[in-house]
Amino acid sequence: MVRFITTLICLSFTSVTFAQDKAIIDSSASPHIQLHGIDIGDCQWTDGFWAEKFQLCESVMVPHMGDILKGDVGHALNNFKIAAGVMEGEHQGFSWHDGDFYKWIEACVYLDAVNHDENRLDDIDEMIDIIGRAQENDGYLHTATQIEGIPHFSNRRFHEMYNCGHLYTAACVHHRVTGKTNFLNIAIKNADLLYRLFQPRPKQLSRFGFNQTQIMGLTELYRTTKDKRYLDLAEIFINNRGNQRSGDAPSVTGESFGDMVQERVPLRNETEAVGHAVLALYFYAGAADIYAETGEKALIDALDRLWENVVNKKMYVTGALGQTHYGVSSRHDKISEGFLNEYMMPNMTAYNETCANICNSMFSYRMLGIKGDSKYADVMERVLFNSALSGISVDGTHYFYSNPLRMINGSRNYAKMNTESPKRLPYLKCFCCPPNLVRTIAKSSAWAYSLSDTGIAVNLYGGNKLSTQMRDGSPIRLNQKTNYPWEGSVKISIESCKNEPFEIRLRIPEWAAGTEIRLNAESININAHAGSYATIRRTWNPGDVIELDMPMNVQLIEGHPRIEEVRNQVAVARGPVVYCLESPDLPNETSILDVYLPSDSQWTPQFQPNFLGGITTITGDIAVRNIPKQHMYHPIGKPQWKTERAQFIPYFAWSNRGESEMTVFVPVIWK
Ligand SMILES: [Zn+2]
Repeated sequence: MVRFITTLICLSFTSVTFAQDKAIIDSSASPHIQLHGIDIGDCQWTDGFWAEKFQLCESVMVPHMGDILKGDVGHALNNFKIAAGVMEGEHQGFSWHDGDFYKWIEACVYLDAVNHDENRLDDIDEMIDIIGRAQENDGYLHTATQIEGIPHFSNRRFHEMYNCGHLYTAACVHHRVTGKTNFLNIAIKNADLLYRLFQPRPKQLSRFGFNQTQIMGLTELYRTTKDKRYLDLAEIFINNRGNQRSGDAPSVTGESFGDMVQERVPLRNETEAVGHAVLALYFYAGAADIYAETGEKALIDALDRLWENVVNKKMYVTGALGQTHYGVSSRHDKISEGFLNEYMMPNMTAYNETCANICNSMFSYRMLGIKGDSKYADVMERVLFNSALSGISVDGTHYFYSNPLRMINGSRNYAKMNTESPKRLPYLKCFCCPPNLVRTIAKSSAWAYSLSDTGIAVNLYGGNKLSTQMRDGSPIRLNQKTNYPWEGSVKISIESCKNEPFEIRLRIPEWAAGTEIRLNAESININAHAGSYATIRRTWNPGDVIELDMPMNVQLIEGHPRIEEVRNQVAVARGPVVYCLESPDLPNETSILDVYLPSDSQWTPQFQPNFLGGITTITGDIAVRNIPKQHMYHPIGKPQWKTERAQFIPYFAWSNRGESEMTVFVPVIWK
């Protein structure tokens, strides 16, 4: 109790002491950060692509998901009510369902930071009250084991730590946005239990933790409360992993060991991303949070290696991660939903769980903060526009768990698969991805800008207004107008700022060679290299206008020659958006497997406001031939081609017109 009171006192102290401490990741006092987050709600999408997605998030995605999770289909709130003893029934859903409910609450809180809604806040308070009543006296909270009478912390596959992590994160965000402590106190009580159990490092719990979101959550709890025990505990979970003998842990059962859970090699020695992709990326993201506080070189060296390995040897062109549902690691451990060998990138059987893709952007966002290099924001953007958004339908009500790059009719027996599906589904029993995506859309505006000691960085483009404080406490207001990603021109107006020199960094995306920058309608001589931040340092005046012009020509993207699955194939991209070809846009009876792409195709981009939520399509020439499909191999003479025009659509917008065939990569005919 004494410690609890101390923590609460710290809370009231910190809220007075630190400015800008209400970011998604509160690195305001972290010593090893170059780019700090802006407070949640300081940036708001105003018009254009992300404003429309945010609006849909608020009007459809979040309330629709709330109906599911609070009702009998999702049963998430019911689980808490049953655990609290206010409702009769059985636990339904997977054991990590609580964590997915916390993610949805977190999404509600982000909405509230932008559009304050008393009813929504009251609703959240009611849910927090039920969650609190489900919590046991010692702080334990995990409805699956509580309802089913399973011994606590007896098997890491029950995902107790995953639920804890999402609880801490959601509670910290809730506290930052609302100033309330009701949710946070539940998190603190639970984290104190973890500290009592795990800080002594008992052997039987030495390999505990499966999907380790608790590392991120504990670090955030440390940042919120300033209670260093939580940071110490977070680091213990890093130190434990890979440093324990296999016989030490009765909580480890089944096939969840070795590379599958990143414990074959201790993190600081690891050279390759292995195992379950979501587990890996949450683990790396948590380690990055710890580095931001400790500055330990061995940790950041490992994270540098792993980020490079992920992005340059295992990532899809859509930013997606996890090449397979089932397979083995390069060190011959069985793995699922995760990484294969380097450059082994199947299209049709790619797993690419929506969560893994989002985790990729979460890890990159943390590395962006640590390093300040725009390449991390490039990955965030690649994920957001492609393999994140593909997880939800254009109307915001149907979901993909898996995000392959090719779909062929009749090629797989989806009836036997629990997470892959040929089209988006209205509900997934494993519901981790949908609330993860919805909270990401809800918070995306807070990723758009970062703060450095020398100024401000523009990470993401989209119509928005920013009203925040710089690191020195001086207020700044910006207004960004753009039709990005459909058009490449961006106009940023300075509405107010301090009367001293500071820098504005503008991310020039890796694909945007030839970008031009003007200041107050005149060209300026600064480095605007693709794949870097262009930095303008000056004394700014209200009314100053920065204009960027990023070329939006259609690009054909080729994979590394070691990716055998895309040899002699190309993907079509325009700006940050990767396109695909879908069967509704092909001539009748044409299989996606019969389509080739002439390299000199004449492209016609066209914005279609009433098609698939408002997208720019790209129409181009394709060459079609009817390839025999009866035999494994067959001799071939000179192919007979038929030239057609076909429309490519953004990959994220596929599967909104019924079941279809689809491909991102298309064989190319070089001309
Ligand atoms: Zn998921």
